[in-house]
Amino acid sequence: MKYLVLFLVLALVYAVWRSQNRPSAPPPRARPPLPAPQDMVACQRCGLHLPRSEAVGSGQRHYCCAEHQRSDA
Ligand SMILES: [Zn+2]
Repeated sequence: MKYLVLFLVLALVYAVWRSQNRPSAPPPRARPPLPAPQDMVACQRCGLHLPRSEAVGSGQRHYCCAEHQRSDA
């Protein structure tokens, strides 16, 4: 009976020691910021929507590629 009590005390001490030495959870990884929204324009020839920065054209007319710009001129 004496050894049972001693074992329980040691097990309790070990459990407390383990819970205090457990490494804390890693901090949540910060997500990279989302890119800024871009204006979308439609190709004057085929209607494809694409970001204004990728569109070909001048003024108010936008095209998805140089070929559509040439064929619409
Ligand atoms: Zn097009």
